[in-house]
Amino acid sequence: EGMHPGSAERTVRHANWSAHGQSAGKDGTEPFISSALSSMPIPARRTIMKTLADIFEHTLQDVYYAENAITKALPKVAKAAKDAKLKKAAEDHLEETKGQIRKLEQVFKSIGKKASGEKCDAIEGLIKETDGLMEEASGTALDAGLLAACQAVEHYEISRYGSLREWAKDLGHDEAHKLLSEILDQEKATNNKLTNL
Ligand code: FE
Ligand code: FE
Ligand code: FE
Repeated sequence: EGMHPGSAERTVRHANWSAHGQSAGKDGTEPFISSALSSMPIPARRTIMKTLADIFEHTLQDVYYAENAITKALPKVAKAAKDAKLKKAAEDHLEETKGQIRKLEQVFKSIGKKASGEKCDAIEGLIKETDGLMEEASGTALDAGLLAACQAVEHYEISRYGSLREWAKDLGHDEAHKLLSEILDQEKATNNKLTNL
């Protein structure tokens, strides 16, 4: 006791983030990796989620955060892209993404929960890389790099929605399963479209 301040706090890392324009707050917790690599006792917060329902809801909040972050990043990609088809693909997927946010809100509603976001470190990292690319690349390198960055995001989404829709099925959330499968199909179609540009 007392050796690891904060380890007894059973608070979930929460970004106090909402869908409409507010940015994530600093949560002040230690990065997961550093605690995983050290020989220190496992912090209590790692055992907060226990059930499939818990991880389902948590991951739903993660993708809700990610989709909202994507709606802010895609206009920058569309603007930076030189290739007309890539520009159009980014603009089209922005509109589709806004629809996905509405679908996710329906998913939350269908399981009796209020829509909320939980900071997604993966999307933050992918967007950060893309921002860096826009500063460091031009010409063909920029367009090729942006295309690859967009596909990295689609692959992340495909993996998340693949898990989420299976969990929804296991949990007997039929409407959520249907909606999440629809989003998964859109992400797969977008990835295929990008592959064929
Ligand atoms: Fe999406
Ligand atoms: Fe995430
Ligand atoms: Fe997407």
